[in-house]
Amino acid sequence: MVRVVLYVLVALLGLAVVGYFTVAAPIADARYNRVRAEPPYDASARAEALHDTLMVADLHNDLLLWPRNPLQRYDRGHSDVPRLREGGVGLQVFAAVTQVPWGQSYQGTAAGSDQIPYLVAAERWPLRTWTSRLARARYQARKLRRAVGRGEGLMLLRTQADLDTLLAGREENPNAMGTLLAVEGLHALEGTVANVDTLVADGYRMMSLTHLFDNALGGSSTGIEKGGLTDFGEAVLERLKKNDVTIDLAHASEALIDDVLARTSEPVVVSHTGVDATCPSPRNLSDRHVRAIAKQDGVIGIGLWEKAVCGPTAAATAEAMAHVADLVGAKHVALGTDYDGTVLAPFEAGGLPLLTEALLEEGFTPREVEQIMGGNVARVLRRTLPSAEENE
Ligand SMILES: [Zn+2]
Repeated sequence: MVRVVLYVLVALLGLAVVGYFTVAAPIADARYNRVRAEPPYDASARAEALHDTLMVADLHNDLLLWPRNPLQRYDRGHSDVPRLREGGVGLQVFAAVTQVPWGQSYQGTAAGSDQIPYLVAAERWPLRTWTSRLARARYQARKLRRAVGRGEGLMLLRTQADLDTLLAGREENPNAMGTLLAVEGLHALEGTVANVDTLVADGYRMMSLTHLFDNALGGSSTGIEKGGLTDFGEAVLERLKKNDVTIDLAHASEALIDDVLARTSEPVVVSHTGVDATCPSPRNLSDRHVRAIAKQDGVIGIGLWEKAVCGPTAAATAEAMAHVADLVGAKHVALGTDYDGTVLAPFEAGGLPLLTEALLEEGFTPREVEQIMGGNVARVLRRTLPSAEENE
């Protein structure tokens, strides 16, 4: 009898281990990356016709964190290359997340803990990624580079010339898609300024200083102290400028935004955000910062998720975009969906024509819609990307 109980216990333990390393990550993926409405999606004929002419550029997507091959179509989560193409996306920024504390809140998130080891272990990523945030970023870059190497019409944007090649290529092949690597929070440097060079050599071209919590560089909009740039942050910022890395102020505290803007005259991006005026939140931009970013010819990527715009609807996103456009002009408005960023989205990537429809309903002209949905991002990257490859 005792022996039978023992066998059963061992079998159950074996099942739990097998389950953890096979189905746990896909279950988490499906649970955290939900949509309000499943496909198929129906936009108006006018919106569809305009959308077909657009090159959509999305400033933020967290797909690389999840147990999905970017090239394959899935029925969970928000995006993959087939669904992005369906939505007209021609330029996609993929961000690497490297630390997510337990119990995050908009009121204040402490830096101490981390959920990512459990996720990457369940996904059977290489052992070093279980403990190293730098290794997690490097692994995600490899994952994208591998997909780009195998996927038809895909390219990784490293220079201004690459962007020109993409834009010219899309004239002939609407399936051509540029991808760009970004890091969400430079705790990924693990305290070493020179690791900026490592990430740049891996292909990273856009970086935000902080993510959900205050780190060694400065304050997060959802941190505890929400401070400005530290001495280490200042040294990193200089290294980013030297490497022509595009600076992303998403998730930065107000003091950090002020400190960074005071130290750079280049355009910056806020890759995924909402605005206080339509959705008050510590995570969202004030009118003062919208103006300051526009003054440096930067762009503000408005999010497509519930908490950024106070509602999982295209209309709520269009309303936030209209606020920024009223304040500083449509040329500073962009899209930063945060697809697959553990958010509730109104629709999957294939539903993006519905956003074009909401923008038309908001009163934007077709020319403004073209700028907002992609043209503005292309303009800024045309200026901020390195002019020649120096790190190959
Ligand atoms: Zn984010």
